[in-house]
Amino acid sequence: MVKIIFLGSGGGRYICVNQKRATGGFIIGKYHVDPGPGALLRLLEKKIDPKKLDGVFVSHKHIDHCNDASLIVDALTNSLNKKRGIFVGSKDCSDLLYPEEKTSLDKYYLVEKKEKISLGDMNVEVLEARHSEGTVGFKFYTSSGEISYTSDTEYFSGLRSHRGARILILNVTRPRNSRIPFHLSTEDAVELISIVKPELAVMTHLGMKMHPIAERERKFIEEETNTKTIIGELGTVVTMEKNITIEKI
Ligand SMILES: [Zn+2]
Repeated sequence: MVKIIFLGSGGGRYICVNQKRATGGFIIGKYHVDPGPGALLRLLEKKIDPKKLDGVFVSHKHIDHCNDASLIVDALTNSLNKKRGIFVGSKDCSDLLYPEEKTSLDKYYLVEKKEKISLGDMNVEVLEARHSEGTVGFKFYTSSGEISYTSDTEYFSGLRSHRGARILILNVTRPRNSRIPFHLSTEDAVELISIVKPELAVMTHLGMKMHPIAERERKFIEEETNTKTIIGELGTVVTMEKNITIEKI
C-alpha cells in the first residue's frame, strides 16, 4: 500500500505569490516531491510530521518546485543533528542546498534522464522532460504499482515513458486554447492520458489562467479520456493498493 498526499495544486510564478492555490508539492510514501513555497507550512497545517519524512525529490530548480527543499531537509535531519534521509535533484540543483545540509543527508543524488535509483521501499526511474535545462520527471516503482510524475514539460512523444503507471500526476499549467511552450495544456493532458492509460490521473501545477476554470477542464479531460481525473487539491490523499481510493484530510 502506498499513499500520496497532495499539498496543493498550484504552479507557476503568479500562483506562488498569491497562493490562490497551495504550492507545497506532494508526498509519496515518505518522500516529499517538489516542495514549493509553503510546503513546510502545509505539512504542519495537515498535521504531517516533516521530521518523519525520509527524503526530498526536486524535478528542477524553479522556485515553484524547490523553494522549501532546504527546510524539509532541515526538518528530516532534526535541524541537522541527525545524519539521515536522501535528496534527489535534477542536475541544476547542485547549489540548491546549503553545504551543511548536504553533509547531514545519508545520500545526495543529482540525476538526469534514464538514471535509476534504488531506495529501501521503492525504486525510482528518472524520466525525460522538456522544460528548462536539467528538468526531469520521475517514475516511482512501489510495491503496489507505478506512480509517474511528468513535472513541468511540453508534450513530446518521449512522454510515453510514463506508460505502465497506475497513477499519472500531470502538471497541467494551461487550459484549452492557451498552450505555451514547455508546459502541458488541457489538450496535451488528454493526449498523454490517452497514451498512458492510467487508472487515475491527477492534475496539479495549475497556473493563473487554469485556476478559475480548472473544474471545467478536469471534467473535459475525464470525459475525453474516459479516465478518472482529479485535481490534487491541498489535503487530497490517494491510497493505492489493489484499488485506488481518494479521501480528504
Ligand atoms: Zn513550475
